[in-house]
Amino acid sequence: APRQEATSKIVLDLERLYDGAKEDLASVARYARAIQQQRGDYNGRVLSIRAVDLQALAVFYDCTPTELIERLADHGVLVADPRAFFAS
Ligand code: C2E
Ligand code: C2E
Ligand code: C2E
Repeated sequence: APRQEATSKIVLDLERLYDGAKEDLASVARYARAIQQQRGDYNGRVLSIRAVDLQALAVFYDCTPTELIERLADHGVLVADPRAFFAS
């Protein structure tokens, strides 16, 4: 059975994620910065991340990937539709 319940692409709003007020997501922010460095992807306002990386972060946060997605959504750092995001 698939360990990743959510099938849609995980896209992070970097401006909101890197907002210093979000202490709870400090480790997600560190991880996202590391991915940006590995890809050389510095100029984006959003970042699509791998499902396996979400799984690794969920282990770190001691929750399921679905719960971590909910947490990210609660903090308003998930982009549901990146194309709509840029159109707005
Ligand atoms: P790699 O995993 O050997 O991937 C080499 C290249 O294949 C990547 O170069 C990228 O152009 C492409 N690639 C691999 N997987 C995907 C994918 O799911 N979608 C897309 N669109 N392209 C993919 P890139 O982006 O310069 O990354 C260089 C290396 O940095 C990667 O080598 C990998 O070791 C690491 N890396 C980059 N992004 C991530 C990430 O999100 N998570 C992890 N764990 N490693 C990453
Ligand atoms: P864009 O870069 O003009 O890409 C438009 C669409 O082309 C993407 O829609 C996707 O369907 C496809 N596409 C572009 N690059 C890749 C790729 O490496 N792999 C695959 N499989 N498809 C690709 P999508 O995903 O809805 O993204 C919309 C826009 O959101 C993108 O426009 C880009 O501006 C932004 N975006 C999404 N993910 C990232 C990211 O990880 N880094 C950055 N810098 N921008 C991103
Ligand atoms: P995407 O590029 O549309 O890729 C969708 C899925 O196709 C990926 O989900 C992965 O399962 C598979 N895939 C695509 N390219 C490769 C590849 O070169 N090697 C392997 N082993 N699988 C590949 P995943 O991993 O959950 O990634 C979700 C999204 O995160 C990707 O959508 C892409 O936008 C971004 N991403 C992931 N890894 C990289 C990377 O290394 N570099 C870049 N630039 N973007 C990445």
